Amino acid sequence: MRKDDCIFCKIANGEILSKTLHEDEKFRVILDLGPATRGHALILPKDHASNLYELPDDIAANVLILARNMASQMTQKLNCDGFNLVQNNGKAAGQTVNHFHMHLIPRYLSDGQNINWISSEPSAKELEEVKRQITE
Ligand code: AMP
Ligand code: ZN
Repeated sequence: MRKDDCIFCKIANGEILSKTLHEDEKFRVILDLGPATRGHALILPKDHASNLYELPDDIAANVLILARNMASQMTQKLNCDGFNLVQNNGKAAGQTVNHFHMHLIPRYLSDGQNINWISSEPSAKELEEVKRQITE
């Protein structure tokens, strides 16, 4: 279902024009307007889901297949040196548009980008506590 006030619904369904790399029944893949690197693209499902938690099973299952296919095509055509898939959920994670999307980010050895995190050094006890909190 399309959500009236959602910009990515409008883009995914062709009401707002975009640089489309791929379109099928369920998805549109577009170039990001504020790219981290050359070729940075977004996979948008045509049906609205705000985030990963809301994603229906069939879209969740198909999105990674599409990501793999796009990554292969883009790596070949752009001759990039690596590839990041990024998918943000919630403000704390950097999500700015509340329509599920997956970032396809071609990486180049000289791109100067830093899509990374600062590692911490938890104790064995802390790791055990986290494991228990998640699994019990
Ligand atoms: P996120 O921070 O994960 O929610 O990512 C949102 C992404 O959407 C950012 O990389 C923006 O540059 C991109 N973006 C926002 N509006 C548009 C638009 N109209 N067309 C293409 N990309 C957009
Ligand atoms: Zn939407």
